[in-house]
Amino acid sequence: MSDKPISELFSNGRKPLLSFEFFPPRDDAAMANLHTNAEALLAAKPDFVTCTYGAGGSTREKTLEVCGILRDKGFSPVMPHLSCVGHSQLELETIAREWYNAGYRNIMALRGDPPRGFSQFRPQPDGFSHAYELVTFLKNRYPDFCLGVAGFPETHPESVSEEADIRHLKAKVDAGACFVTTQLFFDNKYYFDYVERCRKAGITQPILPGLLPVISFKQVQRMCSICKVELPKELAKQLEDAGDDHEAAEQVGIRWAAKQIEGLLKKDVPGIHLYILNKSKAALSQELIRFFADR
Ligand SMILES: Cc1cc2nc3c(=O)[nH]c(=O)nc-3n(C[C@H](O)[C@H](O)[C@H](O)COP(=O)(O)OP(=O)(O)OC[C@H]3O[C@@H](n4cnc5c(N)ncnc54)[C@H](O)[C@@H]3O)c2cc1C
Repeated sequence: MSDKPISELFSNGRKPLLSFEFFPPRDDAAMANLHTNAEALLAAKPDFVTCTYGAGGSTREKTLEVCGILRDKGFSPVMPHLSCVGHSQLELETIAREWYNAGYRNIMALRGDPPRGFSQFRPQPDGFSHAYELVTFLKNRYPDFCLGVAGFPETHPESVSEEADIRHLKAKVDAGACFVTTQLFFDNKYYFDYVERCRKAGITQPILPGLLPVISFKQVQRMCSICKVELPKELAKQLEDAGDDHEAAEQVGIRWAAKQIEGLLKKDVPGIHLYILNKSKAALSQELIRFFADR
C-alpha cells in the first residue's frame, strides 16, 4: 500500500501536526534501542516520521531498512530523506524508483553535507549541486511524490546572505516542494522572523519548526557548532549547572523544548518536528506530549 502524501495532512486542518526524525543506527546495540524506543513512541501518535540519509556519515542502505522497521511498527506515513552526496542522476533515479515501488510517497529532498574530511560540497559528475535540482528531478519523474525540503531560520552557513538563502528556498518550493522543515533552533524569534521573510518572498508552503530536546551540554555544543546555530546563554547556563547529572540535563532540555513549543503553538504553526535522535524520553514526557493530547 502507498503512503499518504504529507501535504494532505497539512491541508486537512488537523493541527498541530507532530513528527519525529530518526536516524540509521550504527551498530546492533543501537538498532535494538531503536526498536524499543520506536515501539514506545507509537504512544505519542506522530502524524509522520522521517529517517535521515547518510547524515553524519551514517550508512545509506540503512535508511530504507529503518523506514521498513518504522512501517512495520505501525508508523505512517514514513518519509525517507535523500541527499545528492556522492550520487549520479542514474543512482538517484534508481533509488527513487525503488522507494516509489515500495509505496513511499514522501521524500525529504536534500543536497546533503560534504562527507567527513571534506570542507566543501562537490557534486558527482552528472550529479546535482543544489537541492532544488533534486526536487525538479524527482517531481519530473514522480509527480505524486510529496517532497519536503530544508529551511534555515539562522541562514544556511554557506549562504552568501539571508536574502540569497530565502531565494534558494523559493527555488526549491517553486520546483515542487510541498513543505519546509527547519533546522533546529533554540530561540523562537529566529523561526518567526524566518517565516515572515519567507512569506514576503512569496513562499506559501507550510514551514514546520524543527526542535531538538537537548540531553546534555556536550551534545548541544556539538550540534550548535555543526549546524551553526545559536545556543542561548540561558540554556547554556542551565545545562552547565546540571553538570554531570544526566537526568537533570535531560529535564533542562525537556523544559526548554516545552517552552519553545508553547510559544510556537500560540502563533498557529503547522506543527512541530522533533529531532528525537532515536530517543523516546523527551517525546513521551508529559511536558511535551500534553500539547498534542487532543489530536
Ligand atoms: C530538516 C533537515 C533534514 C536534514 N536531513 C539530512 C539528511 O538526511 N542527510 C544529510 O546528509 N543532511 C541532512 N540535512 C542537512 C543538509 O543536507 C545540509 O544542511 C546541507 O548543507 C544543505 O542542504 P539543503 O538541502 O538545504 O541544500 P540547498 O538547498 O542546495 O542549499 C545548500 C546551500 O547552497 C545555497 N544554494 C542553493 N541553491 C543555490 C544556487 N542556485 N546558487 C547558489 N547557491 C545556492 C543555499 O543558500 C545553501 O547555502 C538536513 C537538514 C535539515 C534542516
